[in-house]
Amino acid sequence: MIKVENLTKIYKSKKKEKCVALNNVSFSLADSGFVFIIGKSGSGKTTLLSILGGLDNITSGNIVVNGNSFADFKNKDYVNYRNSMIGYIFQDFHLIDDLTILENIKISLDLQNINNDSLIIEALKNVDLVGYENRFPKELSGGEKQRIAIARALVKNPRIILADEPTGNLDTKTTAQILSLLKELSKDRLVLIVSHNLSDARTYADRIIELSSGKIINDYIRNKDFSEEVVLNESELIIPLYKKISFEESKMINDELIKGKIKKFTQSDEAFIKNNVVEYESNYNKKIENKHFSFKNILSLAIRFLKKDLIRLILYSFVVACLVVILGLSQLIVNFDSSKLLEEELNSINQNSVSLNKSNLVDGITDVNKNCIINVEKDDIANFYDAGYEGNIYELVNVTLDYGNVYSLSHNHTINQFTISDLFYNGTRGTLITTENYVINTFGELHYLCLADKIEAGGIYITDYSADAMIYYLPNYFKSYEDLMGDIKCQQRNIYGYINGVIYIGYKEKYSDIREKLTDINLTKDDILELTSTEEYRTYYDDIMQNLSISYTFNNNFKSDFIELNSKTWCPLGNSFFQYDGKRYNISGYAENALTRSNHGLNDNEIVMNYKDYNKVFDTNYSSETISSFIPHEVVFNYCYYYDMNQSEIVKSFKVKIVAIDSGASCYMADNIFKEVMACNNFTSALFFDDISNVSLIFDVGDELGYTPNSIVALSLATMTKAVNVFSDFFNIIFIGLCICSLIILVNYGVKLIKERTYEIGIIKALGARNIDLTFIFGFQIVLAAILIIVMYILGSILFIDFSNEVLIRSLLELAPNNFIMDIDVLFINWDYLFQNSILVIFIVFISFIIPNIRLRNLKPTNIIKAKE
Ligand code: ADP
Ligand code: MG
Repeated sequence: MIKVENLTKIYKSKKKEKCVALNNVSFSLADSGFVFIIGKSGSGKTTLLSILGGLDNITSGNIVVNGNSFADFKNKDYVNYRNSMIGYIFQDFHLIDDLTILENIKISLDLQNINNDSLIIEALKNVDLVGYENRFPKELSGGEKQRIAIARALVKNPRIILADEPTGNLDTKTTAQILSLLKELSKDRLVLIVSHNLSDARTYADRIIELSSGKIINDYIRNKDFSEEVVLNESELIIPLYKKISFEESKMINDELIKGKIKKFTQSDEAFIKNNVVEYESNYNKKIENKHFSFKNILSLAIRFLKKDLIRLILYSFVVACLVVILGLSQLIVNFDSSKLLEEELNSINQNSVSLNKSNLVDGITDVNKNCIINVEKDDIANFYDAGYEGNIYELVNVTLDYGNVYSLSHNHTINQFTISDLFYNGTRGTLITTENYVINTFGELHYLCLADKIEAGGIYITDYSADAMIYYLPNYFKSYEDLMGDIKCQQRNIYGYINGVIYIGYKEKYSDIREKLTDINLTKDDILELTSTEEYRTYYDDIMQNLSISYTFNNNFKSDFIELNSKTWCPLGNSFFQYDGKRYNISGYAENALTRSNHGLNDNEIVMNYKDYNKVFDTNYSSETISSFIPHEVVFNYCYYYDMNQSEIVKSFKVKIVAIDSGASCYMADNIFKEVMACNNFTSALFFDDISNVSLIFDVGDELGYTPNSIVALSLATMTKAVNVFSDFFNIIFIGLCICSLIILVNYGVKLIKERTYEIGIIKALGARNIDLTFIFGFQIVLAAILIIVMYILGSILFIDFSNEVLIRSLLELAPNNFIMDIDVLFINWDYLFQNSILVIFIVFISFIIPNIRLRNLKPTNIIKAKE
């Protein structure tokens, strides 16, 4: 039934040294019988047995078992061969320490898909170990372990039993019991046993094959004619070799010796004779069956192995999950979409535009309360479009009506009590050159409460908020909206210009709550502080600064039309100064166009000053009586912005001639100078953006060009998001670091798991399990780890997101101007990321398990088992 043809096995050791373990061996084995393989240590016995058992591969030659040729075997055929034909008893037992005796034996039956525990008990009975079912291998002696290993091989009732020195660890009594059992079994199957006990061989063997240096040097079969009796043949006493002489026989020998009958002793050694059979007939030809674990078996084995590793598995998963949670949080920060957050927040407070003006930074924070406004460079607008801004940009022209007390309304109140004046800003913030659509988008409609009889191209539309403020601050000048229409001039409050109409914006209804709260006379100082830091107040304040206190024009040529319309009136001089005689003489107040007074028909570049100002500036003593003695002289007049309070940056220099001084209140300028000064005074002070879908682009470009948001809310958000973005670089490093850590831990876990289980995998593989079965049994832990990690990761992310937001916002608030309290979420649960990261975890876990698994796949069971030793 077994035919071994020219079998050679050469081991290649790590140092590339070759070891010929089997050298061109050929023999044949019958279907049944008890065959002993003997030989010195290192002669190749184990090698031969493991090759016959399909545990190791052949270097050259072939083996045919029951008509199945190894030459045609694929990996899975070896597996099926081991499983369905071979019962292998290892020299070193190779029991699985984590499994009980019953479970160890059960694997053999599971692999046959037989579920019958009575067979296990039967097998235990055969090796005399009934009652040991629930013990663990560690609780058995060497001999007991060996007997369990035998039971495991016998329980599946295999066609071929291969036993490698199975009695080496047993006492004589048990040895005899086991060998008798194997002898009994060998009646209808082949039992091949490696032994170095010649006496046992003689007693039990049907055939003895002796190996030496990888070659068969002797091949004997039992001599059927040989008698084991002690025989007295005339005077010759014939005693068989190794014969244990019984009491009766010794008595007989004694008697005969006394009688003197025995003349000669002969030891007979013909119990075994040379085997001349070259090839045994095969009466048993059977295809190899394809049996394997059922899913239930796999699962129960997987759970069995998991039990021992459960705590470690949970700990590992927990650590990795923690890493992934932090990783996820840093990922959120790295990918933080400031634009989206800003847009959402601005929308939530009904701002659908943002405005920027050239920064006037105080300690890095723009003081929106300060009237320091800087001209917008013409080129700046182009920069926003170049950077990809897609909406409209409107210019806010510095055409203002100034009618209240400075600091009447602020966002960081230090006053004790609000008055109604606190509800009004002290003037208009400028005139926005915009479209009717913009106004409709901002206020929901464009409705005129009052219109001038004559609409002028250089005239402005003011809001009802501004109109109410003017009437409140200047009750002696204005009593109704009608009073405000057309050309207005109020020197006391620097109001000049032309009002085309009043636009309804519904601020009273919209802000009735906060306005009522602000005017509560019972407010304490603390109440006010608290009130002014609420989002409600900020929103109101922002709306005033951004929309309510702004005047509007829908005329694109507003700037030049305004100058043309108003060049007959007067304009502020700001911090302008004269340069004369190498000295600097400051001048403030306002200038009138000389054309307004008929008696001052001035030529180009000529001015008239009032004597009081002249005395102040040039330190003279003119009086109304002596003004006629004034001698005209030339001076340099340097125009500076009225709003530029801290510095007197020269906007334009003129060579002018003071032709006279008079007793009036103004400085009178010739028409040509007046127009130029007017033009200088009407500049773009801010830019309004109506597309906030990419608001961080606006802030980023603005930041580069030296702009800051006008709105407190936007400014706070911009500052905070900028900080988050700064952190994001830092978190990128953390993110990458954590990715590497998680990867190392996960890979380490997978590799370690497989490495630690190599021995068990080898044994189960040797017993006939498929690679795929083993992948499932030990992959179960990996799957469980992945599930645990993902569940803990998702739960952890949900649990920690609020906490993280709180921590983050608390730190960010330190950066926000005026400790603005804002209830925003910087981080939010991103299911896309959760999903992505989970997939990543599965992927890494899988890879870290599969790679060592693939390596094991191609290793022969013997190598795997040996690797452990
Ligand atoms: P026996 O079982 O008769 O004592 P073995 O079959 O175990 O002998 O070994 C036969 C020869 O092959 C010995 O010289 C041994 O050193 C060598 N050998 C066995 N296994 C390996 C192996 N995995 N790698 C290298 N040499 C081996
Ligand atoms: Mg050996």
